[in-house]
Amino acid sequence: MNYDDIFRNAITGLQAEGRYRYFAELERQAGAFPKARHHGFGLPAIPGDGDEDVTVWCSNDYLGMGQHPSVLAAMKDAVDRYGAGAGGTRNISGTNHVHVKLERELADLHGKESAVLFTSGYISNEAALSTLAKLIPDCVVFSDALNHASMIAGIRHSGAEKHIFRHNDPDHLDHLMARYAAGRPKLVAFESVYSMDGDIAPIAEICDVADRHGAMTYLDEVHAVGMYGPRGGGVAEREGLMDRLTVIEGTLGKAFGVMGGYITGSASLVDVVRSFAPGFIFTTAMPPAIAAGALASVRHLKASREERDRHQERAARLKKLLADARLPVMPSVSHIVPVLVGDARLCKQASDELLSRHQIYVQPINFPTVPRGTERLRITPTPFHDDLQMARLVDALKDVWGRLAISAAA
Ligand SMILES: *Cc1c(COP(=O)(O)O)cnc(C)c1O
Repeated sequence: MNYDDIFRNAITGLQAEGRYRYFAELERQAGAFPKARHHGFGLPAIPGDGDEDVTVWCSNDYLGMGQHPSVLAAMKDAVDRYGAGAGGTRNISGTNHVHVKLERELADLHGKESAVLFTSGYISNEAALSTLAKLIPDCVVFSDALNHASMIAGIRHSGAEKHIFRHNDPDHLDHLMARYAAGRPKLVAFESVYSMDGDIAPIAEICDVADRHGAMTYLDEVHAVGMYGPRGGGVAEREGLMDRLTVIEGTLGKAFGVMGGYITGSASLVDVVRSFAPGFIFTTAMPPAIAAGALASVRHLKASREERDRHQERAARLKKLLADARLPVMPSVSHIVPVLVGDARLCKQASDELLSRHQIYVQPINFPTVPRGTERLRITPTPFHDDLQMARLVDALKDVWGRLAISAAA
């Protein structure tokens, strides 16, 4: 039996479809974001790609908090005070004072009684959804069709009965829920900002439907925390809806610029996840310095709206520039700016040409992250992308679109 042949065949399949993943090897430069040093491609090497400076246009460090002076200072200080690792799982000597302070800060951010940290947003969704839906007897889960892989994994691992409602469609949700008795426990899982299209869920309407059927609501605000709402509490905060959600989940790795995930909710709900979720219990706690950096970031963005205002202004400006240039920018009501290519190979080629000819890095987004035929470049302007960089991006896209003869029907 040649196991390596099996592995190689699987990879050949991906390559034949043009959706094999190459990771750009970047060296981020604190103080120079969104500039980074590009070290050519990793495995397999693409000849001719030496080291060069590039402008990153696809970072999820949406507000540049990954280089914010107060975040960096908090992390350095924490390393000096507490050392490197947490020293254990949360249960076995790994709960540091700063973890608890961060959990209090996050509960407050979302107007909830309690919060609990995980080592990533992925794990927070997997652990919380699997635990809740398993623990509630006979729970039926209703999941938005475009939910993130981490929510799908959590729901699947719960073993609970599951239905998928059409994306952002409260009527379809209502229709599916109506088949179940009022007394049957139900959980509705959805996101606020959907990261590939940049659209936003009708949170109030979904909560109305959930209330009518006596369901719990679980909202992933990963692409909204830090960026929306007066204190960066997300879209639910902006719309005054935080108290209507049973669980609000977020990440510390995107707009907060560090790493980690969390859920917030009632004291008893958080206690049950803390007490029953294997993905929380059986893993080493995040290093105190990570928690300290995230704490500084959350506190900063609670008090400062400068980054949020500039972020929205930059996104609106880029969308207008792309539309004016007749590039196929997809409709988006958020800070995410997707540009449609519609073919996996062309999408990868467009990304390669932007990098090699223009020193612009935008990752191609292919299936299964998005449906086939909707392959795209997903551009994420930040407060640190200036007018000159935007003008260069638009010119570069026009050049590449022309070269590759990608249809430019806006
Ligand atoms: C990125 C992402 C996550 C996972 O968060 P990480 O902190 O990166 O693990 C969860 N949900 C959605 C919608 C995401 O896009």
